[in-house]
Amino acid sequence: MARALIPGSFDPVTNGHLDIIGRAAGIYDNLLVSVGRNRSKSPLFTLEERMEILRDSCAQWRNVQIGSFEGLLVQYAREQDVNVIVRGLRAVSDFEYEFQMAQLNRHLTREVETVFMMTGTEYAYLSSSIVKEIARLGGSVKGLVPEDVETRLRQKVQPD
Ligand code: ADP
Repeated sequence: MARALIPGSFDPVTNGHLDIIGRAAGIYDNLLVSVGRNRSKSPLFTLEERMEILRDSCAQWRNVQIGSFEGLLVQYAREQDVNVIVRGLRAVSDFEYEFQMAQLNRHLTREVETVFMMTGTEYAYLSSSIVKEIARLGGSVKGLVPEDVETRLRQKVQPD
């Protein structure tokens, strides 16, 4: 049975993430989507908020579970009995970093394979950072993120 992992910051989850998650959920028996606790990034949403949003937006896929991790990705993957790490590729600019990570993870363990999935072209320009930037500048993020995220973003950037 193939169990896959999609790791990420998901700060917040976008429709681009959900496209990859939905497609991976259709390929693998079991899919774990995990939020990384990265101390060098200062997220807009707390780890708990990011997990809650993911839980809501992934409820439609019965084989998807939400988790979180800290530290070495391959160690977490092994602890979770994961055979495959799935990462999305948007543009050539993603490639270099992803290639480096995949090679290093392969150096650390041969038990976990990294698989890349091409973005849906409609999401090629979409990232959590751009969504946060639009929200901060007062623009609409409709169609880029789930509705619940739209509301939460509005509350985050202009609390009243
Ligand atoms: P990280 O900080 O680990 O890059 P992200 O939350 O930005 O975390 O992304 C998690 C995964 O989702 C990565 O593999 C990333 O390439 C992928 N991803 C993000 N946005 C998109 C998108 N618009 N289309 C396809 N894949 C995406």
